[in-house]
Amino acid sequence: HAARRAYPAQAIVDLAVIRDNMRHLVDIVNREGGETQVMGVVKADAYGHGLIPTALAALAGGATWLGTAQAREALLLRHAGIGADRAHILTWVNNPLEAPYRELIDADIDLSVATLTALEHIADAAREAGRPARIHIKVDTGFGRNGFTFENLPEAIEMLMALHDEGVIDIVGQWSHLAVADAPDNADFVEQTETQIARFEAFTQRLNDAGIEPRIRHLANTAATLSRPEIHYDLVRPGVALYGYEADPAMGRPEQYGLKPAMTLQAQLSSVKDVDENSGLSYGRIYLTEARTSVAIVPVGYADGIHRSASGSDERGALGRTMPGGPVRVMTKDGPRLMRVSGRVCMDQFIIDLHGMADDLGVAIGDTVELFGPGRGEAYAEPTADDWARAADTISYEIFTCLRNRVPRLYA
Ligand code: PLP
Repeated sequence: HAARRAYPAQAIVDLAVIRDNMRHLVDIVNREGGETQVMGVVKADAYGHGLIPTALAALAGGATWLGTAQAREALLLRHAGIGADRAHILTWVNNPLEAPYRELIDADIDLSVATLTALEHIADAAREAGRPARIHIKVDTGFGRNGFTFENLPEAIEMLMALHDEGVIDIVGQWSHLAVADAPDNADFVEQTETQIARFEAFTQRLNDAGIEPRIRHLANTAATLSRPEIHYDLVRPGVALYGYEADPAMGRPEQYGLKPAMTLQAQLSSVKDVDENSGLSYGRIYLTEARTSVAIVPVGYADGIHRSASGSDERGALGRTMPGGPVRVMTKDGPRLMRVSGRVCMDQFIIDLHGMADDLGVAIGDTVELFGPGRGEAYAEPTADDWARAADTISYEIFTCLRNRVPRLYA
């Protein structure tokens, strides 16, 4: 409670929810009695939820793998005491030239290999370490980002074989990443995924033909974990599902998939006052009040990671059109109500029009409001990160990964 009062805003992360989301994912992939393992993707500070607490909650829920984009994130997990006996860690090393490969190999961290340059660096580090590096061969099946292509695969195979024979690498996995979340009613998306799957299989065939047999193959992100059991392979890599969200809200609400959002973002109102009709709110006067009303200040802004694109305008304002701002749940004496960002989001704060007089509504300075939470249904008027994503024209991922450290994460 004291910590809450020391800050204007706080993100409360429910670790039991993260654990339960993981439990659910483990159940899904083993429904048919398979032996598919689940990786908790905890890159980018666990999508803004906090790396170490989230990783521990994912492991408590049955994850046996953790995935990070950067070498440093993977090392932090090991430094926090998550040993190789508790979790495999795969890092896709987004800095191949400067990565601390020796340290990663010593820490038993699996390494993605997507270029010959990275492979050379890894081999040098493994020779120095005197033990083989555990690698996962990344293949580009149609994302167009990281991975070997059919064109440069022969060269890669030659080098992989030589390093394997030298005892410098242990080829653990083959993996790839999907470009589109499956939407069953979008034929183009379904076809793209089918093409990627076919190419993934063709890559396996090429590797096998050369005598390389990766033990663990993995392709599925959240969308494929939830909707495509045929490509769960040996391991799935859900990220956003761990935090309680669907990759694409068009697929339905998270609870349809047994998931629950884990983060609640709250703030304490820093001012409540009455203003006249036609008062301009915030920079640029894109929002003018329709009638005499009360306005409240929510003390978080774009420097905290609140998207400026979630600003709200009305047609009386300078833009001449209505643009719904990000939603905020305000508790009034008649129950919760949904208010919206009114005017431009500023660096450290934004304004909401209460559409009524604060005294009548029972809203006062210091009241805690909620920007998003688990989304407990309409009666609660509780927005989710998907609602903010809609207002800011982005995806839920960006809503929570953009939250800056000046908003403390508190763990429930
Ligand atoms: N695998 C890789 C390589 C990724 O980069 C990501 C995240 O972007 C994921 C898995 C998890 O994706 P999602 O959060 O959509 O499940």
